[in-house]
Amino acid sequence: MILEDPVEKVPYVGRVYARKLGNRLGIKTVRDLLYHFPFRYVDYSKTSKIRDLYPGREVSVEGEIVETDLIRTRSRMFLTRAAVADTTGAIEVVWFNQPYLVRSLKKGGKIRLAGKVDNFGGKTSLVNPEYELLKPEAQPIHTSGLVAIYPETASVSSKWLRNRIKTLLKSKPEGFAEFIPEEILEKSEINKPEGFIERWEALKMIHFPETLAQARQARARFAFEELFLFNLRSLEQRELWKKHPLAKEFKIVEMQNKIMRFIAGLPFELTSAQRKAIDEILADLAKAQPMNRLLEGDVGSGKTVVAAVAAYLAYLCGARTILMAPTEVLADQHFATLKTFLEPYGVKIALHTGSHKPDHQTTRPPNDQYDLWIGTHALFYREKGFEKVGLIVIDEQHRFGVEQRAKLLEKSRSKETPHLLTLTATPIPRTLSLTVYGDLDLSVLDEMPPGRKRVKTFVVPSSKREAGYQWIQEKVMGGDQAFIICPLIEESEKETMQQVKAVTAEYEKVQKLMPNVSVGILHGKMSSTEKNDQMTKFKNGEIGILVSTPVVEVGIDVPNATIMVIEAAERFGLASLHQLRGRVGRGEKDSYCFLFVSSDECSDYRSRPEEEIPPVIRRLKALEGTSSGFELAELDLKLRGPGELYGTMQHGLAELKIADLTDSAMLKISRDAAQETMRSDLNLEKHTLLAKELKRFSSALVEPN
Ligand code: ADP
Ligand code: MG
Repeated sequence: MILEDPVEKVPYVGRVYARKLGNRLGIKTVRDLLYHFPFRYVDYSKTSKIRDLYPGREVSVEGEIVETDLIRTRSRMFLTRAAVADTTGAIEVVWFNQPYLVRSLKKGGKIRLAGKVDNFGGKTSLVNPEYELLKPEAQPIHTSGLVAIYPETASVSSKWLRNRIKTLLKSKPEGFAEFIPEEILEKSEINKPEGFIERWEALKMIHFPETLAQARQARARFAFEELFLFNLRSLEQRELWKKHPLAKEFKIVEMQNKIMRFIAGLPFELTSAQRKAIDEILADLAKAQPMNRLLEGDVGSGKTVVAAVAAYLAYLCGARTILMAPTEVLADQHFATLKTFLEPYGVKIALHTGSHKPDHQTTRPPNDQYDLWIGTHALFYREKGFEKVGLIVIDEQHRFGVEQRAKLLEKSRSKETPHLLTLTATPIPRTLSLTVYGDLDLSVLDEMPPGRKRVKTFVVPSSKREAGYQWIQEKVMGGDQAFIICPLIEESEKETMQQVKAVTAEYEKVQKLMPNVSVGILHGKMSSTEKNDQMTKFKNGEIGILVSTPVVEVGIDVPNATIMVIEAAERFGLASLHQLRGRVGRGEKDSYCFLFVSSDECSDYRSRPEEEIPPVIRRLKALEGTSSGFELAELDLKLRGPGELYGTMQHGLAELKIADLTDSAMLKISRDAAQETMRSDLNLEKHTLLAKELKRFSSALVEPN
């Protein structure tokens, strides 16, 4: 047998089980089965005396079968009964609906049982326990020691899996090899103090550990393995990208002065973080290799202008830029902003969205005269305008799937690759971002433009809700503007009808509650014209309160908006809340963010002592205390795990099975190890086994959209 063999080849699997394993658990090959790891272990290492059993205890016992019986109950159920005795006493054991069982329970045979002690028909009994007939030649694996519990599915039980895996582990599959270089496995600086366990050993230990410490060591090895491969893949892709022929070489040196003049002409001073990012980008653009850089910065940190500098350089060098935005509202906003920045310097800009196509405007110059195309997904369907593209900017990248990104690139390059700049406002802790974005170069805007006021943030219990609305109404009547963000209904990025209903209900409620205020509504099922109409009115101040879904509005800039209300805030991650909060606090006035909590247990939290504050509230209160997206992301990761991050990832990281993304030490050592390996052997020519495994790993990663 080899690892790539279909799982059907494993003894006793057969076609029916193979189908179940494949469809329900994603186990298709021998390898998949060996790598189907347990998520916990039950401890049956102690054998109890039958005398000491009482209901409720989780035990394992060993004894002799003294009696067996098969009964048909009145409700036509089969009941297999046995009495099992050890030197201290006897206990009754029953199994429901396993009539075949009675045949294998031989009087006088030795049996081991494990499970919870129960009370059945007035007697202390074991009901449906795990059982194993003891034979002199085999160790029990289901009822003794640490017993692995696996992700299961209907009729594929942990016991079944354990048996099959046990069989597999009897001998190494043909060609099975350790592929992690020895020097890395053994290096104690990497994994203190003893290095990582060898692959075959680790497989045996993760499925059938003798101690929990062994199980932990084995897990560590596989977590490392996964992250090591993941990092190698990122580094490989980074190299690959650089090898693509560049679409258009930029002659930066000749343009330096013009760029400086452009920057000097901006309506504000750049922050030093912006200046650093621009330097990094310009250095990339000066090279004869395509750039692939991620600009990561909190909402409001000023990413657009950085992109504008790059677009200006492209223009100066005679290349076209494409800027992709995730929504029409954002595309419109970029169009407006970039026009003010760039048109005075001669850059001709076109907007192309679902509801706005430059072709229809005969007053504009023909397609090929535009230097900068701004648009949404609608840009994909353009036939023209993609010639001479030298730079692609993608805003809020997590909204785009990898496929779409690839499609865009495909479209813009025949054989050549343009420079790629991706902007994201999703803050990810530093150690993690080096892994998540390992295939990209990273620039970080970790500084806000000066004069930004901190948004005063309050977690509002339901008892204070009415008062809150009252206060908001007064503020809005005094000329301020507010967003009300409706509860997040599904984790999905797509807007559902249910979500639309929730927004509409909220909209009607707010209208009733605040009759003196003009209220607007925004959701994904509105037509683009309707959306634009609402946004424009909000920007002009004709609308005082905009009720919106959480999905639509990422990134819009309305300086007069000073109040952000988020309903059912407990359903959001801290990072998302922080992004929403970033919509306000852009102007001179004081700004506020109210996090409304819907669950009742929180209604009176303010009157409770600190330690009785529910964890939901405590989590939200972190927002009251900090305005750093990176800090909040770190905290979110600690408190809620990487679940929320998965939604924003597109690098296949969500596919990892065993790696723990909150384990920053492991993230670091796996990255260091990958770098070290590639540094000495870039194409893994001296590490053929590793190269082969990496190939398999890469092709198995299905990138989510
Ligand atoms: P984001 O990073 O969220 O995309 P934007 O690029 O939309 O942020 O910038 C937010 C606001 O800050 C815009 O109004 C922009 O003009 C302004 N801005 C950007 N950089 C600076 C700066 N250095 N000084 C002052 N204002 C700035
Ligand atoms: Mg932005």
